[in-house]
Amino acid sequence: TYIVTDNCIACKYTDCVEVCPVDCFYEGENMLVIHPDECIDCGVCEPECPADAIRPDTEPDMEGWVEFNRKYSEMW
Ligand code: SF4
Repeated sequence: TYIVTDNCIACKYTDCVEVCPVDCFYEGENMLVIHPDECIDCGVCEPECPADAIRPDTEPDMEGWVEFNRKYSEMW
């Protein structure tokens, strides 16, 4: 799965939301998040992000960000 990290804060671009084939982006408090269970791991959004905020969860120490993305995806 892919998740959004803090580089997204204050970013005004929504290119990632527009390209996601399964609409799994959600609005967090001050940044976008990806629902980690809905993401199909296609990777299309990653190069669209001008802030380099979208990362694969296979990178080290991403567990906290996965939980953060899940929490805010299910908040509203
Ligand atoms: Fe959507 Fe694909 Fe990005 Fe997952 S990797 S959030 S499915 S565009």
